[in-house]
Amino acid sequence: MIKIDSQRLINISDYYYQEIHSTVIDKYSRAALGNNPFTGNDLRLWFVNSTGQLDMRFLKTLLTGTIDEIIKTNIEIEYYLKTCKFLHYSSEQVDAKLTGMKKVTNRIAIRQAYVAKFSNPWLDKYTKAPGNLSFFSSNKNYNKLVREVKADMLDLNVLLAQMIDYEYISKELRHELLHRIGIEVCPYCNRQYITSYIDHSEKKSTADLDHYYPNSRFKLFSLSLHNFVPACQICNSRFKLAKGIEILDPYRDGFDRDTYFEVGLNPASNSDSLIGGNTFFNIELHQMHTGNRADQLEGNIRLFQLENVYQSHKEYVRELLYKQYVYKDAYKKDLTALFDNMQLTEQEIHLFLYGHALQDDKLGDRPLSKLAYDIITRT
Ligand SMILES: [Zn+2]
Repeated sequence: MIKIDSQRLINISDYYYQEIHSTVIDKYSRAALGNNPFTGNDLRLWFVNSTGQLDMRFLKTLLTGTIDEIIKTNIEIEYYLKTCKFLHYSSEQVDAKLTGMKKVTNRIAIRQAYVAKFSNPWLDKYTKAPGNLSFFSSNKNYNKLVREVKADMLDLNVLLAQMIDYEYISKELRHELLHRIGIEVCPYCNRQYITSYIDHSEKKSTADLDHYYPNSRFKLFSLSLHNFVPACQICNSRFKLAKGIEILDPYRDGFDRDTYFEVGLNPASNSDSLIGGNTFFNIELHQMHTGNRADQLEGNIRLFQLENVYQSHKEYVRELLYKQYVYKDAYKKDLTALFDNMQLTEQEIHLFLYGHALQDDKLGDRPLSKLAYDIITRT
């Protein structure tokens, strides 16, 4: 929902690398990596330089670079990411979409288009092999394709987990990272504080460290700093888990203005509902974008049940509407005189009135900022 400035991660890259790289080097030295099930090539080749030693530049990129920077280091890693994505999003973007759809030809086209989105030599090995075109003709055959690719990916991830796995991060390091990233409100829901605190001189946090690409399915990125998202436990443990719904990467993208909250009238509403007289209304969350970003925006709304959970903030919205009504109308003159006297800036007036500065670049600082911003600036 709220974009996080990725500079927060860049600022702690050196610290994180110092803390984690020796563990990975140690695991690597003991690992029996074997061959990549997709290519038959020695998997160790991903990690070594021209002299056959562990490539420290690659290791640093893998641990502290963005996902884009990591896949640029080796075309095979791009194939890995595409194939993992194909598996992860398949049940949502193919099975769920096809449920209840009648026309057989459309069903084939949807399966083909989905696979084409992630086309790469690893996947093509199955889908483009002579005689394998039948993968698209029925659910049974398509599921067989998914099962076969998944089996190879599981094997590959088991090999990778010998050196790269989230469990190699200690509890202390996880809490330290949450402290250093310094996010105070869950970026997925913008409802819960995620608090860092000190308990008997030990750093702790109420936040979970979510993996944008889940640890269980995208093993290679399970220690990548730019894959870590501080999130509240409800969003991470109750809603997200490893469900294959595609959502926005919070380090790249937020809801911005094309997804917004609005007060929606219902049959119980009356003339007081829009001026804070009652809570006889619904809180609606609209998404105005089209294309791939629209799918991700809707993914966020669906995965984190945003429109549903925000219904519990009607009383808060009623207060906002009432304050806005009072400020706009009857008492505006008196309040303006008071604010002039106090020499408040516009943001300070907003803070005074609504508890929010209503700045669109600061929506991540307090819970419900996006809701307040949309209700006040759009009503
Ligand atoms: Zn949350």
